[in-house]
Amino acid sequence: AKDLGGNRLAFFSPHMTEVLTERLRVEAGLRHAIEHGGLRLHYQPIMDARTGQVSSVEALVRWADPERGLVSPLQFIGIAEDTGLIVPLGEWVLNEACAQARRWLDAGWGEIPVAVNLSARQFQEPDLDRVVDRALQRTGCPSHLLQLEITESSIMEPVEQALQTMQRLTSLGVQLAIDDFGTGYSSLSQLKRFPVRKLKIDRSFVNDLGSNDRGEALVDAIVALAQKLGLRTVAEGVETEHQAQWLARLGCDELQGYLFSQPCAPQDLENWWQGRVAG
Ligand code: C2E
Ligand code: CA
Ligand code: CA
Ligand code: CA
Repeated sequence: AKDLGGNRLAFFSPHMTEVLTERLRVEAGLRHAIEHGGLRLHYQPIMDARTGQVSSVEALVRWADPERGLVSPLQFIGIAEDTGLIVPLGEWVLNEACAQARRWLDAGWGEIPVAVNLSARQFQEPDLDRVVDRALQRTGCPSHLLQLEITESSIMEPVEQALQTMQRLTSLGVQLAIDDFGTGYSSLSQLKRFPVRKLKIDRSFVNDLGSNDRGEALVDAIVALAQKLGLRTVAEGVETEHQAQWLARLGCDELQGYLFSQPCAPQDLENWWQGRVAG
């Protein structure tokens, strides 16, 4: 038995053991954060390309870890998905984003639509529409102020089921967007069946703008397709004035990126806003 144990241990290299230990640590810490108020939402403005006004904001989760500070979602969303923690985490995000939209409304900032990211795993939960409805009811957030961003890959399999889920969500009055568009392999013929309002053009294409012709051709094609289908387009990861002008010229409706603002805490966003209005 000892030998066998030895062999098993040998199967896990010290590096793998380290990785597993780290994952377990993240899982435990994350679980604690979800239950004890350790998560934060930052908000990034999305600008109307024509008017230059803020058209909506995207909520992006951060983990306020006492030791590591604000942890990026790139470091824990994957683990949250693997462990199922994405379900309670996602529910917290929905509630908090709706509560914030309601607070902005009550404080006189007006109607600010808030976009929330849904992971594939959440999208497959059979009671997702009930969770969304509950968040709206509980917070008093008008349903048209909530937008849900779904990645291309999560809506593809199986298509009929995804279609039903999307229909149940839109019947609540929320709006749907397809996130990271262009990185998956969505069938364009299916796209027109989906009750979505917006396509978010992935950052990688925006990055390519101006540096190679392929980037431009792709953005151009996506915008043309969206227009044909009556969908709005949002470009992610806009970092330069040059990219913004290019995107506006190609007919992209909305722009999001560091050029305008990083994602930030609600108070910082309000200050940024006030600064813009003051000129
Ligand atoms: P995403 O949905 O594609 O969100 C956009 C990401 O790009 C954000 O990273 C944002 O900070 C970053 N970004 C925005 N503008 C720029 C720019 O001009 N340049 C560059 N280089 N990056 C920019 P963040 O906040 O680290 O989030 C990463 C990903 O984590 C998100 O990608 C999303 O997939 C996921 N995520 C974030 N919050 C949630 C959440 O509440 N639930 C779920 N399921 N996933 C989330
Ligand atoms: Ca997103
Ligand atoms: Ca995205
Ligand atoms: Ca992305």
